[in-house]
Amino acid sequence: MFEPDAEAMPPEELARLQDQRLRALVSRLLALDGLQAQRLRAAGVTSSADVSVVDLPLLPMTGKEDLWKSYPFGMVGVEPQDVVAVHGSSGTGGRPTLVAYTRADLALWARMCARALAAAGATRASTVHNAYGYGLFTGGLGIHQGAVELGATVVPVSGGMTQRQVTLIRDLRPDILTCTPSYAIRLGEALAEAGVAPGEGLALRAGLFGAEPWSGEMRTRIEELLGLRALDIYGLSEVIGPGVAAECLEAADGLHVNEDHFLVEAIEPETGAPVPDGTLGELVFSTVTREALPLLRYRTGDVASLRHGTCECGRTLVKMSKVAGRRDDMLVLRGVNVYPSEVERVLLSSPAMCPDYLLVVDERQDARHLIVCCEYRTTGGGDSPSHGSRDPGVGPLPSAGELQSRLRAELGVSVQVRVLPSGTVPRSEVGKAVRVKRWQDGAAPLPGLD
Ligand SMILES: [Zn+2]
Repeated sequence: MFEPDAEAMPPEELARLQDQRLRALVSRLLALDGLQAQRLRAAGVTSSADVSVVDLPLLPMTGKEDLWKSYPFGMVGVEPQDVVAVHGSSGTGGRPTLVAYTRADLALWARMCARALAAAGATRASTVHNAYGYGLFTGGLGIHQGAVELGATVVPVSGGMTQRQVTLIRDLRPDILTCTPSYAIRLGEALAEAGVAPGEGLALRAGLFGAEPWSGEMRTRIEELLGLRALDIYGLSEVIGPGVAAECLEAADGLHVNEDHFLVEAIEPETGAPVPDGTLGELVFSTVTREALPLLRYRTGDVASLRHGTCECGRTLVKMSKVAGRRDDMLVLRGVNVYPSEVERVLLSSPAMCPDYLLVVDERQDARHLIVCCEYRTTGGGDSPSHGSRDPGVGPLPSAGELQSRLRAELGVSVQVRVLPSGTVPRSEVGKAVRVKRWQDGAAPLPGLD
């Protein structure tokens, strides 16, 4: 553990610390007298003495709309000269979300990412191949600072230029890989094409993959392809970036939330009521130690469940499940709610299927239906029909009809399956993979689809 005193803190002590930090946050917000202070007063809170962690579900919430309305820096809680960095996301609908950091915020972020790397087994002797994009997106620089904080050697390769990445991985023999799960697949295929195989040319031991929802089946694929332990890391720029939560090597069955700094709740999205442990809900975070952007009960739109208890790794920090999806990504098909990651789980439970897929929501007629576009797995890289032949080791190939039956049985709704020629589904070189496309009018989103 990078910070054992915090990560394995006895629960009573942690609750006291959270209480104290929540009160400090509420005091600051009231003093800043902005939007969040107005909401607190409207809820009857006029002093920090009125609040405790137990009452957290009664306090007002904030959301992305608040950041948009106060764009760019209306919710920043420090003087402009104290801001040392800005990050954010390009956002949906072209509306960016910007997040400011003070020097102390950057130091906190580095420690959170160092915790995540250490939980994956990284040490000062490690080499971290960091293929998250560097820039406004928090992935690259967050992990970078975490690796430096830990004292490891970081290779800031960023996303894209896959051939150069293959060369660097072969020559520098990193033990830790950090990137999106979809890019891990792309890299694994490229390494296989270049004849760099796990156990021989590769020294990778663990990977921290995040910024996209991904299933346990995808984990198995990545682990086979790269010969490493694939762990999940979670974060969002509004809270701090990657490092809000991460899986440990020992259990690898959920992500420890750094709840000494980010108080977490799971709520029922419609009513706002807390959901019990183990039930999916929308994650809500309070950033109790952030300086530049103090947020009380920020709604993330990410859906996951929480689980309290001490882990076999010794951490007492609450665990969140893998993110099932974003509230906005949920597909409603004839009244049934489906997350793309659930389709992924069913599809990839067949070893013959390639990990790249695209869900096309056909909205050309009144009743929207889902077309699951997928490919059979090939050897020697699945990104080009001219390379690679069908992998003989994957067993019999399920027909589109068989896949449809499985999906109907598991998801409770009928979908169409189209198995397309290898290389049809676009692969992502940088940023997050596109898993869902809407087909409203005009040309089909993929060749061969009609
Ligand atoms: Zn653990």
